[in-house]
Amino acid sequence: MSEKLALVTGGSRGIGKACALAMAKEGYDVVINYAGNEEAANKTVTELKQLGVEAEAYKFDISDNTATTEAINKIVEKYGRIDVLVNNAGITRDGLFLRMTKENWDAVINTNLTGAYNVTQPVIKVMMKQRSGSIVNMASIVGIYGNAGQANYAAAKAGLIGFTKSLAKELASRNIRVNAVAPGFIQTDMTKDLDSEKITEHIPLKRLGTADDIADAVKFLATGTTYVTGQVLQVDGGLTI
Ligand code: NAP
Repeated sequence: MSEKLALVTGGSRGIGKACALAMAKEGYDVVINYAGNEEAANKTVTELKQLGVEAEAYKFDISDNTATTEAINKIVEKYGRIDVLVNNAGITRDGLFLRMTKENWDAVINTNLTGAYNVTQPVIKVMMKQRSGSIVNMASIVGIYGNAGQANYAAAKAGLIGFTKSLAKELASRNIRVNAVAPGFIQTDMTKDLDSEKITEHIPLKRLGTADDIADAVKFLATGTTYVTGQVLQVDGGLTI
């Protein structure tokens, strides 16, 4: 049995990796999930273990309900509890809506929104038994303000925000808090092809965010407060002021 366990989906790279490391630094054992890049997942597990905690990577596609439920049940069986869930895994399939294929619509909704359903439902069963838990969903400023070329992604992230607020209301009586972080432009593989100089011109803090900037906010919502629930924290260098 772990003393405290954090589960981070998409925890092998980018923002999820930074969140996983931040939770390990707080003394949490950490289970990360990933979709296919085993090398990155193994490297992250090694880095987590170097921080003196238990760490493991589980490969499953969060858009697959059966595979996700099975994997989470195994995690619960092994560790006995889940204290923090970071619903972070996500993808983009950008394009103007007029030409957006059904395949690209479905891929983003199924991973970024339904994925959170698939992961959260088995996780809250154990959190409800514990009568404690904290969930942080990785939204995006695009889910609040929209973005041309990202109708699928914006719809999924807006959905995730509604999901966050509704679950916060449903689960508060069980001492489970549910919040979201809405990052702006963060330097990861997901944004590597964007014109960062042009974007930076519009950011008051005059830089793109780092994965650690987001992990700081996730850590705060997950463990640094006990009275914040149903909130969406924008972490965007002032871009949306
Ligand atoms: P990233 O570098 O592309 O990493 C994505 C992670 O998600 C990887 O660990 C990947 O696993 C995993 N993943 C993708 N699809 C999955 C699936 N179906 N099942 C399980 N795992 C899956 O992305 P990132 O930039 O760190 O973004 C992380 C989250 O922040 C996403 O939800 C994204 O929408 C959100 N976000 C990012 C930005 C930004 O500027 N980067 C801004 C706003 C919001 P593999 O390594 O195996 O592929």
